[in-house]
Amino acid sequence: MTNQSKIPGEKIAALEEYLPGNNTFDDGEVIRATTIGSVQFDTNERLASIKSDNPTQIAKIGDIVIGVVEANLPSMIAVSIKFINGKKTKANVECICVTRHLRKKNIALAQDVVKAEIISHINGTLHGKIDSPECGVLFTKCRKCFGTVVKMRDAVKCKDCTWIDDRKLSSDFGKSDFLE
Ligand SMILES: [Zn+2]
Repeated sequence: MTNQSKIPGEKIAALEEYLPGNNTFDDGEVIRATTIGSVQFDTNERLASIKSDNPTQIAKIGDIVIGVVEANLPSMIAVSIKFINGKKTKANVECICVTRHLRKKNIALAQDVVKAEIISHINGTLHGKIDSPECGVLFTKCRKCFGTVVKMRDAVKCKDCTWIDDRKLSSDFGKSDFLE
């Protein structure tokens, strides 16, 4: 009687047998699902619950996320999160990283791939930071010609037009396996 997939509204148990648990409601007679997922019966607590198949993944404080820079503002960057602790996420939740104290001209450009640490979750907005050595830009391109760049100390140099630009680079910059 476990791991049966249910759809919202579908009956999962009788009220005299179980109490409504997570992702369920009772209609006065039976307990029904409010989300798609698998049924879980807790016989000790007499709870019937639905474990959602695709919970919206929200990064937690301390999580390491990898995402794409959506907006590059003078004092912050907005990052669309693609990976949480190395696991792919489809939710596309954004996190805001304040960058004004980092003292670089071009912290990260729009469309750069960056690694950040989640530091707070306030009023539904995730905040991250890219200060630590492992955090920062993992992948970027030349600001002038969009060519391939290589690391030069804590800056990047374009292989095509030789333009040198600063970035807040991750210590993982240039590693091809940063998504593993
Ligand atoms: Zn270039």
